[in-house]
Amino acid sequence: MTHRKVYYFDNNATTRVAPEVVESMLPFLKDQWGNPSSAYHFGHQVAKHVATARERVAALLHADPREIVFTGCGTESNNTAIHSALLTQPGKRHVVTSAVEHSANMNYGRFLKEQGYDVTFSPVDADGLIDIHRVEKSIRPDTAIVSIMWANNETGIVFPIEELAAICRSKGVLFHTDAVQAPGKVPLDARGMGVDMLSLSAHKLNAPKGIGCLFVKKQTRFHPHVIGGHQEHGRRGGTENVPYIVGFGVAAEMALSRIQHENTGVRALRDRLESQIFKLIPQVIRNGAKEPRLPNTSNLSFLSVEAEAILTQLDQVGICASSGSACTTGSLEPSHVLTAMGIPAARARGSVRFSLGAETTAAEVAFLLEHLPPIIERLRGASVQSGVGPGKSRSKEHSRHSPRSAAA
Ligand SMILES: *Cc1c(COP(=O)(O)O)cnc(C)c1O
Repeated sequence: MTHRKVYYFDNNATTRVAPEVVESMLPFLKDQWGNPSSAYHFGHQVAKHVATARERVAALLHADPREIVFTGCGTESNNTAIHSALLTQPGKRHVVTSAVEHSANMNYGRFLKEQGYDVTFSPVDADGLIDIHRVEKSIRPDTAIVSIMWANNETGIVFPIEELAAICRSKGVLFHTDAVQAPGKVPLDARGMGVDMLSLSAHKLNAPKGIGCLFVKKQTRFHPHVIGGHQEHGRRGGTENVPYIVGFGVAAEMALSRIQHENTGVRALRDRLESQIFKLIPQVIRNGAKEPRLPNTSNLSFLSVEAEAILTQLDQVGICASSGSACTTGSLEPSHVLTAMGIPAARARGSVRFSLGAETTAAEVAFLLEHLPPIIERLRGASVQSGVGPGKSRSKEHSRHSPRSAAA
């Protein structure tokens, strides 16, 4: 296998596992493989490290370690929060979420509707911002939970979590937030913000895929989603994924110490990338407000070009980015997030998301800025020559070779 250099601009999809995280995990794969629930020392020893990891993840959220439930992923955390709210309040059969959630919530909402529940997908405006008064008005006496993401994975738009939590508290309704995109980028004070439940996923913060957590505020009535043993104080059955939990703990500590850098160094690189693209390439539009936005994310529409074609060309020089659209065989559905913002399908199909990470360098940004303008120019020239306008140039050939996109 050849290892060419990867220019990685897709950190909202997943992140590299930090070397420190890998190191921290190895002892629990090699030597200390005991079951933390076992009564003997070989197990106890391991349980101590799980406890330390729980403290570290709690510190990232300004939470108490007892408020952290480790799960298998961000998706499971989101599903669990809503499931728990419905099961602990059987009379309440209405859920409020937003129209721009990750598929973890979008499809769970659709599933609930099929099961006879009522689900409101609260709209956003053209800038991707949520109308908190609309959210407030959608809350009914039978609303079990409001679940709205902390920050959007496609546009980077940050939602007013403190206000949303306050509205829910005043109405006596549970509030959950999918904060998967937030750690290391914005301060995450779960208690101070007044949220009842909050989801994280470790692979978005330089730990491995397949481990996440759900913060459950003390005294919140809770019903497990995965039912089994007494692990996680009976809140999630299944033997603890010790190496991954340990790695998550180390990554949480690193994320906490990285917020400053993300908001100066990473933000400066993202802003430079964006302003240079606007300068070098005509007909580019940012999708979503400039602020409040995650410091690492830039979602841009290149008019008259198909994002899938841009991504294929970028991939050829080793640049990884993603489009806001879900690519299913033969058809390109525009992103539900951009569609919810009222962005026309043609513009949405030209949208590319660049998401930087703590390790992104100025040289990598320069490399992207060197390759992107000629790619756009070439693609625009090709579509003019063949007389095919935007939205019509989707040959079978091109969709077959499209890279998978919209992961995250
Ligand atoms: C990646 C992501 C998820 C899903 O997390 P997994 O651990 O991959 O299940 C949920 N919400 C948001 C906002 C995400 O970006």
